[in-house]
Amino acid sequence: MILTGAVLATGIAAASVFYSPVQRSVTAIDMVDPGRAVEQAVLDAYRLAPTLEKFLSEPDAWWPGTLNPDDLLPAKVLKKVAVAPGDTLMALLTEAGAEPSDSQAAITALNAKFNPRKLKVGQEITLTFERNDADSYRLFEMSLSPSVEREVNVTRVESGSFRANEVIREFNVEHARVGGTIDDSLYNAGIAAGLNNSLLSEFIRIFSYDVDFQREVQPGDRFELFFERHHDDAGKTMKTGRISVAAMTLSGRELRYYFYQPSDGGDADYFTPAGSSVRKALLRTPIDGARLTSGFGVRRHPILGYSLMHKGVDFGAQTGTPIQAAGEGVVEMSGWNGGYGQYVRIKHGNGYATAYAHMSRLGVKTGQRVRQGQVIGAVGTTGRSTGPHLHYEVMQNGKQINPTGVRFPSGRKLEGKEFDRFRRASEGLDKEFRGTPQLALLNRGE
Ligand SMILES: [Zn+2]
Repeated sequence: MILTGAVLATGIAAASVFYSPVQRSVTAIDMVDPGRAVEQAVLDAYRLAPTLEKFLSEPDAWWPGTLNPDDLLPAKVLKKVAVAPGDTLMALLTEAGAEPSDSQAAITALNAKFNPRKLKVGQEITLTFERNDADSYRLFEMSLSPSVEREVNVTRVESGSFRANEVIREFNVEHARVGGTIDDSLYNAGIAAGLNNSLLSEFIRIFSYDVDFQREVQPGDRFELFFERHHDDAGKTMKTGRISVAAMTLSGRELRYYFYQPSDGGDADYFTPAGSSVRKALLRTPIDGARLTSGFGVRRHPILGYSLMHKGVDFGAQTGTPIQAAGEGVVEMSGWNGGYGQYVRIKHGNGYATAYAHMSRLGVKTGQRVRQGQVIGAVGTTGRSTGPHLHYEVMQNGKQINPTGVRFPSGRKLEGKEFDRFRRASEGLDKEFRGTPQLALLNRGE
């Protein structure tokens, strides 16, 4: 149907008749990506137009003798499919037009290099069908890239069975430096500087222990990061890796962290220049800082700052934005709580508790143990609330305290020889950092 429509669009009236064998054999193959299929069909039609014109003006000279319309069928047809939730590879291949026996043989071959059960939703698979006889096609090749470095191909061999082959691409890794000044939001500034979403959310995660992204980030503040960039020989970014140095300057105060793996087998983490881990008992921003609606000017906005009447702080974000447990603990309450609407309270150690209000969705049950950063529900506007936001409270011995004022001790402090080793590593990173020109614009690539 797509082919007929596209060919008619080129203005060749008789084309649909001429094309019918193509249409019959190819429709089953080309349906998944209609945009691409139409594009291909139009190109084919243009390619064939002179032939068709000649055929229509002198049919006897062409038909049935010298030109068999079957010869115009492409020898190979490419089709891209994507794994949807609930898909099995068998169903996907068969639906795409492969014979069940071919699908089975191809999957068996694939298994030698890649476990089909590890297919993720959204994974693209390129299928090549080869022309079998007059009007049918059979599966020739299936190829997929489980990661940017790796491609697995399964190809039909003479005997009719399939063989898997794996291609590993090696990228060059170097450190890249990106930074900028915040005008309206860290998210926008980060994207403008060329950061991808995964780098940006990792950067924000590193600072979420110390920075209240709603209240503490102001226009003119700066951010800078030094991270691993994997690029191909042409210099194109194929993948971004670990952030080695992360820095923010907030109202003139610099926060600077270095990734470090202690030599004593302790957890790899981010550490301040003084050797303190960033990890704290509670997050200051218990929500993805990239998804906050701009907090600028909130110091003058009574509802967004802490007040005795209000007893908490608010984070403005869209309904549905995931809320994270500020710290490890046990859920003391999860349910409706009057003006607070849908509400979760978590009990942490040392007499501390945190509470989350106006949620649209509760993701935990009373009595449940939660990890720091675990998603416990979503932002909403339930209860006495004028718009979607997270109302967040910190309690000490049952009383609300000002969360903007509490400072929690850091997780680990590097000392002695371990600190000396860390200092050498961080100074080395700084030196490398200063010697690296700022990357103007990172080629996008997750
Ligand atoms: Zn509030």
